[in-house]
Amino acid sequence: SIPLGFFGGIGGASKNGILIKGSNYLEALNAVDTVVFDKTGTLTKGVFKVTKVTDHGIIPDMTILEAAAYAESYSNHPISQSILQAYNNAYDKEINKDEIENYEEISGHGISVKVRDRIILAGNAGLMRKEAIAYEEVDAAGTVVHVAVDGKYAGHMVISDEVKDDAANALKSLKTIGIKKLVMLTGDSKAVGTKVGQTLGLDEVHAELLPHQKVEKLEELEKNKSPKGKLVFVGDGINDAPVLARADIGVAMGGLGSDAAIEAADVVLMTDEPAKLVTAIKIARRTRVIVW
Ligand code: ADP
Ligand code: MG
Repeated sequence: SIPLGFFGGIGGASKNGILIKGSNYLEALNAVDTVVFDKTGTLTKGVFKVTKVTDHGIIPDMTILEAAAYAESYSNHPISQSILQAYNNAYDKEINKDEIENYEEISGHGISVKVRDRIILAGNAGLMRKEAIAYEEVDAAGTVVHVAVDGKYAGHMVISDEVKDDAANALKSLKTIGIKKLVMLTGDSKAVGTKVGQTLGLDEVHAELLPHQKVEKLEELEKNKSPKGKLVFVGDGINDAPVLARADIGVAMGGLGSDAAIEAADVVLMTDEPAKLVTAIKIARRTRVIVW
């Protein structure tokens, strides 16, 4: 039989917008010593703005903003929304999706599409290396989206995101309540990862990770923690559902999170506030006192 206290804990959590999918997770939340966060949409707002466009002018009938907008028009990655928004602002129209022939999302890297018989690539430096394109190294504090057409480098955009208003406080509270290690995993560049890590006071940042490398990193962190300690992974589910599923406790941010994330997660935070994790752990600890 399940002690009544657990129901109280789960009910109390749900009143706070925290869905815990079973008493075993409530109990596991008591023993958390490591919290691993995804960056985009989890610690940052995931609301990007195009802040710089460097167009080398090599595409005869398109700007790189237009080329990138074609590439991004079917994606639901937060980056794609910013590029479509910038395109709408500049041209006062939407992309004609009928012109897009092949669309391929390259997880953790970017997008490839075929438009007017040209192959357009939009994504990070890793995508350019993978496709053997001689790209420009850009030292920007924001996320860089490179654009290439038919194997030739066409330019780049800098896209900026901001850390969430409550992220710094939430991380400080986690330390205060005794969480030993706070880690961030990101597919984004080292420059962006380091900046966010310093702003928020994370213990460790691992950047430029592909989705499968996030899983490997998580497994390494699980091996290194104390035997009784539990590891939480918090993500928004875009590119990180496998990590959510693999963690001792997978926590999805419900607001931005995809259905796949909510499915893969053990705990769902109905709002996008990292501070909800602090609340969840506190409720779990209180519940334990009632039970034992
Ligand atoms: P994070 O780990 O920060 O949540 P993701 O794993 O979702 O980031 O993506 C990693 C990186 O891959 C992004 O920072 C970006 O450089 C690139 N990327 C992913 N999706 C896209 C896209 N739709 N357009 C351009 N670049 C993308
Ligand atoms: Mg992500």
